[in-house]
Amino acid sequence: MLHGIPASPGIVIGKAYVFAKQAPRVEDKSISEDEVANEIDRLQHSIERSEKELQKVLQLTEQKVGSQKAKIFEAQIMILLDVVLFDSIRLRIRKELKSAEYAVHREISKYQQMMMNSSDEYMRERAHDVEDVKNRIIRNIQQEKLISRFEPNSIVVSEILTPADTVLFSRNAVLAYATDMGGTTSHAALLSRSLNIPSVVGLKEVTKLVQAGDTIVVDGYTGNVILHPNEETLIRCKERNEEHEYFETSLKEIRELTAQTLDGKIVQLSCNIEFSEEAENVHTKGSHGIGLYRTEGLFLRTENYPSEEEQYSEYRSIVEKSAPYKVVMRTLDIGGDKVVSNPTNEENPFLGWRGIRVLLDRPEVFLTQLRAMLRASAFGEVWIMLPMISGLKEIRRTKELLERAKKELREKTIPFDENIKIGAMIEIPAAAVIAGDIAQEVDFLSIGTNDLIQYLLAVDRGNEVVAELYQEFHPAVIKTIHHIIKEGHRAGKPVSMCGEMAGDPVALLLLLGLGLDEFSMNPHILPEIKKIIRSVSYSEAEEIARRVLEMKTENDVKDFLKVNLHTMVPDLLLE
Ligand code: PEP
Ligand code: MG
Repeated sequence: MLHGIPASPGIVIGKAYVFAKQAPRVEDKSISEDEVANEIDRLQHSIERSEKELQKVLQLTEQKVGSQKAKIFEAQIMILLDVVLFDSIRLRIRKELKSAEYAVHREISKYQQMMMNSSDEYMRERAHDVEDVKNRIIRNIQQEKLISRFEPNSIVVSEILTPADTVLFSRNAVLAYATDMGGTTSHAALLSRSLNIPSVVGLKEVTKLVQAGDTIVVDGYTGNVILHPNEETLIRCKERNEEHEYFETSLKEIRELTAQTLDGKIVQLSCNIEFSEEAENVHTKGSHGIGLYRTEGLFLRTENYPSEEEQYSEYRSIVEKSAPYKVVMRTLDIGGDKVVSNPTNEENPFLGWRGIRVLLDRPEVFLTQLRAMLRASAFGEVWIMLPMISGLKEIRRTKELLERAKKELREKTIPFDENIKIGAMIEIPAAAVIAGDIAQEVDFLSIGTNDLIQYLLAVDRGNEVVAELYQEFHPAVIKTIHHIIKEGHRAGKPVSMCGEMAGDPVALLLLLGLGLDEFSMNPHILPEIKKIIRSVSYSEAEEIARRVLEMKTENDVKDFLKVNLHTMVPDLLLE
């Protein structure tokens, strides 16, 4: 059994088709002066051919999953139309006297490498798009044909899949995808979800271990891929598939219903998103808007800080897609593990120049973002949320800047929501301790457990060596969350949670019992969380939370919560 990252749900049993797609080989080939014109011609033909191909893929994608998702290919076509890029490629051919494919390879790889070196996963995934376009141009220069046809009803096993492969294979009734590389935010993964094709990525060596024609099982729920399954495994897989289908149906049935406990307590469920394409999925999951929009994605995609207009248009599109529900927009949280270009070269970036600290040191950047958010608030409900708050000073200074941004808009008679809400993320232990004072200063609190846990327990959230110590059920974490909720409520302010813990089914009874008002999570888990809420009683959850607060170790807490969850929601499929 191989374990990868589940990228699109569903369990499938089928025969493998191993798609050996190799990157085109490019040699460092010099040419003579007389060959220059011919090379430039070959380049031109290839650009035209590549554009035609991509237009076809774009159309097919639009038909299958709609125009929003097809935008990936528009972006790839845009690269083909980039005059500056191709001018430099032609210059290389002329000046350096290199073959067209070599010039393409050198010039585009430069950008691709820059994106690959980013510490941001989104950016690294986008580097693959650039690589796709590069390989397509080179193949077309070399006039090599790629075959993406195969026996229908196969499982495609490949090192990596491009978004175009993902769409093209789907014409042949592909059963599932299993790839060595890739992450959940890759466009190929997003597309396979939209196409309802189960897929597991990041399997590392599935292409080495699987041979064409092998029977394999791809489990898009758990990320497992089983090679040479025996009869018993096959039967079990079929059963699990049925259980899942039954469960999925029961989730669909409650899609439009409120997240309300059996004894009538209503909580808000919302989604975490990072880029605007995700906003359209949010409704279909029955959420109440967006509880965390991480704006870093937009900033990491552009080399310089995006302009007010660029930001405004992105924010507005998200607000319009999410209406009538609110969008909690978090101001820029670069730094830590999300660095654009960090001029400071810090030894401890997580304890360094990050989030609100960067923004307050760069008031022009901050004001631009605040104005863009304010302008978007004329089109729906926008709340502004501040990351990495450690004390009141940062909030007060932000409010001054917000007032200034409002004044500037008023002077230009640009409309915005005068009563826009502003809230603080509670993710630094200092802020947790003084949560009551912070709550008096803002309209809402949102607990960022991803950081709160790392800072509280002194465990780097991205360091595998200490991953075992990163415990959301550590009694100190639970007591801190309890304190934040209590203090927020004492000041009459709602408290939400947007860290990963909010979407953990095992944590749900505890958080509900502690009185959390809003849970903001990855959209895919939302239906399941709603189902749990609708199957339990608030008074029981309160009692569970009281008991948990007395427990001394994380294992006690986890075991206790799991047992209770299973008893209260027996048909839940906990993977
Ligand atoms: C958090 O820290 O819990 C959070 C939601 O923010 P991020 O993961 O973006 O740091
Ligand atoms: Mg955080």
